[in-house]
Amino acid sequence: DRLLDGGADDVERAAEAALRPRRLDEFVGQSTVRDQLSLVLHAALGRGGSPDHVLLSGPPGLGKTTLAMIIAAELGTSLRVTSGPAITHAGDLAAVLSSLEEGEVLFIDEIHRLARPAEELLYMAMEDFRVDVVVGKGPGASAIPLALPPFVAVGATTRAGLLPAPLRDRFGFTGHLDFYDASELEQVLLRSAGLLGTVLEADAAAEIAGRSRGTPRIANRLLRRVRDWAQVRGDGRLDLRAARAALEVYEVDVLGLDRLDRAVLSALCTRFGGGPVGLSTLAVAVGEEPETVETVAEPFLVREGLMGRTPRGRVATPAAWAHLGLTPPA
Ligand code: ATP
Repeated sequence: DRLLDGGADDVERAAEAALRPRRLDEFVGQSTVRDQLSLVLHAALGRGGSPDHVLLSGPPGLGKTTLAMIIAAELGTSLRVTSGPAITHAGDLAAVLSSLEEGEVLFIDEIHRLARPAEELLYMAMEDFRVDVVVGKGPGASAIPLALPPFVAVGATTRAGLLPAPLRDRFGFTGHLDFYDASELEQVLLRSAGLLGTVLEADAAAEIAGRSRGTPRIANRLLRRVRDWAQVRGDGRLDLRAARAALEVYEVDVLGLDRLDRAVLSALCTRFGGGPVGLSTLAVAVGEEPETVETVAEPFLVREGLMGRTPRGRVATPAAWAHLGLTPPA
C-alpha cells in the first residue's frame, strides 16, 4: 500500500490495464530486450512455428506482465495467466497445461515460487510437450503420459538467480528488465496522460519522472495523484505547479524518497552520526520493524547511493548528508 512500492494489488492492476502498451513498438525503453525479443518472435513467425520459451526477470512494475501480453499479441495468439503461488499442486498445473490450445502463451508470474513437484512437471512439459498424469496412490500408482499441444511458456521472476538451474535452462531466451531512465519515464508518462484523455506538460512530466524510482508503475501512479490534485485544487492543468504541489502532499521528494526513507536517513545521520549502526537499532529509532526497514526502505536507498551496508552496520554516504542538507561530522 505504499505510494512508491513497485508492486500492485488487483484494484491497481485493473486501473493499469488501460495504460498497457499492446505491441512491441509501443513499449517504451528496454531497447536491448525489445530488440532481442523482436528477433525471437519474428524469426518464429517467419518459420510458422512457436518461439523458444521466454524468461523475463527484473524488479516489480517494470513491465514483465505487459511484455508477456505483447508476446501473445505479436504471435497472434491468446494468453493464459497463472502464477507460482496460485499453483499449489502439480495437478493444478497439469490441468492448466492440458487445457492449452496449440501455440498459446502460458504466462507464469512469480515462477520462482512454484512448488517443487509442479516445477518438475513443468520441465517435462516445456521440453517434450507432455506431462505424466499419476493415477492411483502408493505402490499401485502409475503414470499415464499425456501429450500437450505445443505452447510457449513465459515466466516472470524478480530474480532469475532464484530459479533452479534445470528450470532456467528450459528457457531459450532470457530478458532482463532494468530500471528506466528519466527520459524513458517521461515518454511513459506522456503516453499515459494521452490515454487518460489529459495533456501533461513537458516540465511536469520531467518532474514526475525524476521521482518515480525508475519504475513505470510508480510513474503512472504518481500521474494519477497529480491529476487528482489538478482537478480538486488546481485549474485542471497538469503543469509543473500541479506536479510539485501534489507530490508535496504525498511527501514524495525530489529523489523519489518518501517519509519512511527520509526518516531512516535522518535517524542514521542525526542520531548515529552517519553510522555504522545495526539494522535493529536503526529500526527502533524510526519506530518500524527491522524487516520493514530492510525490505521497504533500504533497497532504494542503497541503489541511489544514499546508504551503504557494511559488516559493522548501515552507513550514510556523503550524498545522504547532502540530500538532507546536513554537514557530516569532520
Ligand atoms: P509485477 O511483477 O508486479 O506484475 P510487472 O513487471 O509485470 O510487475 P507490469 O504490470 O507489466 O509490470 O507494468 C506495470 C504498469 O507499468 C503497467 O500499467 C504498464 O502499462 C506500465 N508499463 C510497464 N512498462 C512499460 C513500458 N515499457 N512502456 C509503457 N508502460 C509501461
